[in-house]
Amino acid sequence: MPMPFSTLAETFEKLERVTSRTQMLLYLVELFKKTPPDVIDKVVYFLQGKLWPDWKGLPELGVGEKLLIKAAAIALHVSEHQLEQMAKRLGDIGRTIEIIKTEKEKKASAPGLLAFMKKPSTSTTGLTVEKVYDTLAKIALAQGEGSRDIKLKLLAGLLAEASPKEARYIARFVEGRLRLGVGDATIMEALAVVYAGSAAMRSIVERAYNLRADLGMIAKILATEGVDTLKNIKPEVGIPIRPMLAERLNDPVEILKKLGGRALVEYKYDGERAQIHKKGDKIWIFSRRLENITHMYPDVVEMARKGIKVEEAIVEGEIVAIDPDTGELRPFQVLMHRRRKHDIHIVLSEIPVAVYLFDTVYVDGNDLTVKPLPKRHEMLEKIIEPSDRWQIAKGIVTDSPEELETFFLKAIEDGAEGVMAKAMHDRSIYQAGSRGWLWIKYKRDYKSEMNDTVDLVVIGAFYGKGRRGGKFGALLMAAYDPDTDTFKSVCKVGSGFTDEDLERLDDMLKPYIRDHKPARVDSQMKPDVWVEPALVAEIIGAELTLSPIHTCCYGWAKKGAGISIRFPRFIRWRPDKGPEDATTTKELYEMYQRQLRKVKEQT
Ligand code: ATP
Repeated sequence: MPMPFSTLAETFEKLERVTSRTQMLLYLVELFKKTPPDVIDKVVYFLQGKLWPDWKGLPELGVGEKLLIKAAAIALHVSEHQLEQMAKRLGDIGRTIEIIKTEKEKKASAPGLLAFMKKPSTSTTGLTVEKVYDTLAKIALAQGEGSRDIKLKLLAGLLAEASPKEARYIARFVEGRLRLGVGDATIMEALAVVYAGSAAMRSIVERAYNLRADLGMIAKILATEGVDTLKNIKPEVGIPIRPMLAERLNDPVEILKKLGGRALVEYKYDGERAQIHKKGDKIWIFSRRLENITHMYPDVVEMARKGIKVEEAIVEGEIVAIDPDTGELRPFQVLMHRRRKHDIHIVLSEIPVAVYLFDTVYVDGNDLTVKPLPKRHEMLEKIIEPSDRWQIAKGIVTDSPEELETFFLKAIEDGAEGVMAKAMHDRSIYQAGSRGWLWIKYKRDYKSEMNDTVDLVVIGAFYGKGRRGGKFGALLMAAYDPDTDTFKSVCKVGSGFTDEDLERLDDMLKPYIRDHKPARVDSQMKPDVWVEPALVAEIIGAELTLSPIHTCCYGWAKKGAGISIRFPRFIRWRPDKGPEDATTTKELYEMYQRQLRKVKEQT
């Protein structure tokens, strides 16, 4: 049975005026009761102010203000200028169209004039929800050459056929201004009342929506197949699942207590969350906000195709920018350049990425959201074929706050944002769409920005990766400690070198390479080759950080930690300086203290 669009327009009008959520809920219940089950999806999309979920990646209406006015002018037989002037005055195109249409109808129905009208105009029309939806969908899908004319014709036809009130809401929808203020939660509650018997059933609708982020589709399943089908709904490949989120704490003791004493602690990578779906050869990537970002990461698509060993799966991970030569993590901002640059082929080589996987929620017909984390993780390890740039997130299982803290410092130093500690007990399910205490993020409170360069001494070297394979790609750098006359390690630097710098590296280092640690070198990190302290380089970084690995200022700012440089970059050689002229450990410590500031964002 078709549903008159006027029913929807009337509800929109009521919803615009409501002042309480209870009243809003009642209007929605009233509306859903009048809605035939087979159009409930369209009604829900209208209420959400969209034609389809954003993640479908389908085009938006593509009708600007100008085109809308043009269409309305054709539909109403008035000049564009007249419409424009009035819309300017009222600040509302929808309302303008409604007023002009009403005026015209009044005139048309005035005695004497009626005789000249082909058909009498009434406030109810034959417009159905289906017809309006389908026409709007056609408008959106009209693309390419000649599409502007098609859009114009379709919209003008729709506005001509609509009653004044219907036209008001069609125009608002087209403008993207149908702001009814109805939240998804209220829609779900009304659906539960009408189709599942009570508001208390909202949790079932919510769970289904969390597993398949398409409220129109969920409403339709509920209305046509009933609540029992909805109860048993599983994630479906190709439809994003709403992500599980973390709470935040900054004390390892408290974190472990909250998680039941023991936790999986992983690097919290600073990149973009990716929900990766695979069905045979087809791959989808959805963002944290469930946008379809597949086209932005053709390299990740390829990795997923090769790196997921089952037919169907949904896995989650973080996409992070990495240094092409060393494989080290790069700051979040670097990844964001991908969004801004348009030539994807240049981007692929300039900004390579790695994916660090941390969960799986669906594998070959099995819903894993209901399984505890250790089971999901076991499955993840089973289905993933790791490679250089496609790996399981780095993590440890621990019940020790000290170990957690050390791992946290190491994570920061390595370019992660902190750590994610995750419960491992029997109730550690995947809570789609909610922020809870099963995952706790631990980020730093303070950071010490690095505003100035330092001069450090080379004490070791590492072989490069990828195109630098077999040649030196990174250096181990040290500060000078005049009190003990030793060189204490500060950081490993692999960025900032030009190709020429790297070419020269082998020759420069050759005279100083040693097969054992030089006597005056103090380092826990073991490079591929040791280097006698002789060469000095100017280095800059994003921050000075506490490090559980480096020996510079060890134990000064914190027990069990030295001071290191996060995201260090080579600037130039300082041939004018000898090793004893390098920045001292004391100077580095003072720099660290001087710049220490509370981190602003508290999320
Ligand atoms: P933030 O702005 O701190 O990233 P958020 O609101 O986006 O917060 P949170 O729940 O606070 O989300 O933090 C989880 C986010 O951390 C995830 O969305 C994901 O992008 C990222 N992340 C990085 N590494 C991991 C990991 N190992 N496990 C889970 N999430 C991770």
